[in-house]
Amino acid sequence: MSSINTVPALDDFANERKHMVESQLRSRGIHDERVLNAMLQVPRHEFVSEELRTKAYADHPIPIAEDQTISQPFIIALSLQALALTGSESVLEVGTGSGYQTALLAVLARAVFSIERYATLARGAEAILAKLGYGNVRVFVGDGSHGLREFAPFDAIVVSAAAPTIPKSLVGQLAEKGRMVIPVGPPHAQQLQLVRNADGTVAIETLEGCRFVPLVGAEGY
Ligand code: SAH
Repeated sequence: MSSINTVPALDDFANERKHMVESQLRSRGIHDERVLNAMLQVPRHEFVSEELRTKAYADHPIPIAEDQTISQPFIIALSLQALALTGSESVLEVGTGSGYQTALLAVLARAVFSIERYATLARGAEAILAKLGYGNVRVFVGDGSHGLREFAPFDAIVVSAAAPTIPKSLVGQLAEKGRMVIPVGPPHAQQLQLVRNADGTVAIETLEGCRFVPLVGAEGY
């Protein structure tokens, strides 16, 4: 096969992505080169509506359909870095939304299972992920606060919506040495927490203050 296939396609927003990576991520302590490279590659503008494309790489969340948002690039990078993915993992994402973070996970892990409560968002994300050629992703419609038992355990779980407490089902679906990143707290201000499962104990570390849309479901709000 020709080596040209390994050269990332240049698009109109390549310079904006580069700027985002340097000024919003590297300068604030994101150091995992795999995460930085993934964020350099994945076309965030493809996951937002036409009229918001020029704002796709700005330092803030962006509204999508159903009153939801794509998180700020820094919060996504911090979450992905905390998962410490090497490329061999099976990952669960709760809250597919636009599919942007799903695409990043597809670059960083072996297999991605993503679950979204709104069928409209799930179908939209699925279509754009397929169009962009991310083949190692499956999108499901349902309440992800219970996780996705039939595909557990997961080496990593990332929850993109805020939970009142850490859902027990999700902890139970973590593999040995598995990691989960989840925003926990009341609707208007949460802590992004890293949950680690090792040797039968669960360790919790707080990464950053944050504000996500609520996780609506049996083990959420
Ligand atoms: N990572 C997404 C962020 C989307 S916002 C992105 O990059 O675009 C969070 C998403 O979580 C919303 O789409 C919301 O509908 C979804 N969500 C909320 N509660 C959920 C639940 N219990 N199960 C699955 N998805 C849920």
